[in-house]
Amino acid sequence: DIGSSGEGIGHFEGMTYFVNGAIPGDIVRAGITKLKKTYGYARVIEIESPSEDRVEPVCPVAGRCGGCQIMQMDYEAQLGWKASSVREKLSRIGGFSDEKLDEMMKPIIGMEVPYQFRNKAQYPVGSDRDGNTIMGFFAGHSHRIVTSEKCYLGGGINEMIRGAVTGCDEVVPYNEETHKGLLRHVMVRASYHYEDVMVVLVVNASGMTRDVREMTEALVPRLSGLSYNDDSEVGFGVSRVLSIVVNYNDRPGNVIMGEKCETVYGETYLRDRIGEVEFCVSALSFFQVNPRQTKKLYDKALEYAALTGRETVWDLYCGIGTISLYMARNAALVYGVEVIEDAISDARRNAKSNGFNNAFFAVGDAGKVEVKDEWSEMPDAEGRLGLPRPDVIVVDPPRKGCDEKLIATILKARPDRIVYVSCDPATLARDLKLLCADGYDLAAVTPVDQFGHSVHCETVCFLSKNYNINYR
Ligand code: SAH
Repeated sequence: DIGSSGEGIGHFEGMTYFVNGAIPGDIVRAGITKLKKTYGYARVIEIESPSEDRVEPVCPVAGRCGGCQIMQMDYEAQLGWKASSVREKLSRIGGFSDEKLDEMMKPIIGMEVPYQFRNKAQYPVGSDRDGNTIMGFFAGHSHRIVTSEKCYLGGGINEMIRGAVTGCDEVVPYNEETHKGLLRHVMVRASYHYEDVMVVLVVNASGMTRDVREMTEALVPRLSGLSYNDDSEVGFGVSRVLSIVVNYNDRPGNVIMGEKCETVYGETYLRDRIGEVEFCVSALSFFQVNPRQTKKLYDKALEYAALTGRETVWDLYCGIGTISLYMARNAALVYGVEVIEDAISDARRNAKSNGFNNAFFAVGDAGKVEVKDEWSEMPDAEGRLGLPRPDVIVVDPPRKGCDEKLIATILKARPDRIVYVSCDPATLARDLKLLCADGYDLAAVTPVDQFGHSVHCETVCFLSKNYNINYR
């Protein structure tokens, strides 16, 4: 099997080993790096007999860079493994029977071309031994920065941006150990349908100090207007840096972005489109990272919501309102709730610019929503938000899954249909178990591969009210 960090799980003399670099089907000679009572960790020394699914990764730093974990596995085999791992979690954690899963699990939706699909890259900035500024990705389980000529998952503009930043003498790279230095991370987000590229410079400061200003003034002319033309069939077309934002984060630790942003060049938002709906995304807002697959994911969610135009829909964990507005075309009323303020401002702007007057948004904790006759755009003193009774609830929580209180609220609100979009099959299985124990029926499960070459898998599920149960 493959473990949660992409390590191969194998056996030797009755012990289980987590083997870095191995994939299912490989027979390897491995060196033990850590030994526990019943299991251990190991590293591949030699592949004695390669798995049928083993391929030569296109990227020369695959295996060292932590960005991809299973690039040495044939893409179709990756998809097969992801689908079976979703199924395994639904069975083991969710308690669903094989019979049920045979019926409800639909084929995984994969990418046609599993390269150049990411619209976002977050590069840590540091120095090499000679004191040169470097920008790359962290190695697995480490904060060592691995650099390479190019990343095969993102657009070509990323490399130009990387070159412009690392070649700029005024850049003072951050040092995690001493918490000194200025430039911590560079986030690049590229629009798939438009030319827009936003560069976010995450700096170790709480505001525009003289040092930050000097560095920014040197970087802006190098970055602004940079453009790249990717004429491959699947690429991002023409990309152009139309926006540069400084993000302030002076806290030690692993959280990449701080809470405050300042636009130093061009636009404050990146424009993009999903299907027919246009979106503005600000630097701090979440936006799905795989534009080609997101459309497929949302189309599936829309299909499962089975809207007729009469429904009231809740979209919880709504981000910038992407799913909300996707649904608003076919629903009577849509209510979106999200904890990040900037994302809700984006959502409201997006509703307006697309001409939707039936989509409403509130900043709040999805764990604290409840059914109320009156819609309130502001939570009460305890943080509770009232939403009108729903016919359909869509949830799209972060990896930790739905808040337990939200599950209770959903069970009380009793919508006809629930669409659960998940980026973590384990928490999905946990939540589905609770929903299906109390009057809902798992009606369809479709995994969608948003993150090729990584161990992550997105899943969209459809639950319908079980009319056979006599509740409340
Ligand atoms: N549905 C959106 C966003 C999904 S990502 C899309 O497809 O683009 C999950 C979102 O949940 C993030 O925007 C995150 O900020 C938000 N979030 C995290 N915890 C939350 C909470 N307790 N209540 C509401 N939103 C939350």
